[in-house]
Amino acid sequence: MAEDCLFCKIFRKEIDAKEVYRDDEIVAFEDIRPVAPTHVLIIPKAHIPSVHELTDDHAAMLAGMIRVANRIADERKIDREGYRLVLNKGPQAGQSVYHLHLHLLGGRGMGWPPG
Ligand code: AMP
Ligand code: ZN
Repeated sequence: MAEDCLFCKIFRKEIDAKEVYRDDEIVAFEDIRPVAPTHVLIIPKAHIPSVHELTDDHAAMLAGMIRVANRIADERKIDREGYRLVLNKGPQAGQSVYHLHLHLLGGRGMGWPPG
């Protein structure tokens, strides 16, 4: 837990978010500036700054985050057309919040390579 972290505050319900999933370890909520018809962020309770700090000890947690993303994709019926899961790390990748979050993006065609 980090006092001033935006996503820790969302986990602690100190800041409102449009939550779509919550359990003891993971919360998923609508991105405030969606870039696709489905744009959900999946975060762990643990304050981990980025994907780069993950260790083997986090394997179950990371699998849990992906499971939640897949479940939301099923609910929104975007599994057939496809969706993208993104973990941005650092400034060149455009990371703006330094609490691990998995982007679930779907509902439109997406280019490759990403911008
Ligand atoms: P990233 O650029 O990978 O660090 O992603 C951070 C994401 O958090 C961006 O897509 C923002 O639009 C989103 N975001 C920032 N503040 C909030 C908030 N209060 N509620 C929901 N999403 C947010
Ligand atoms: Zn945090």
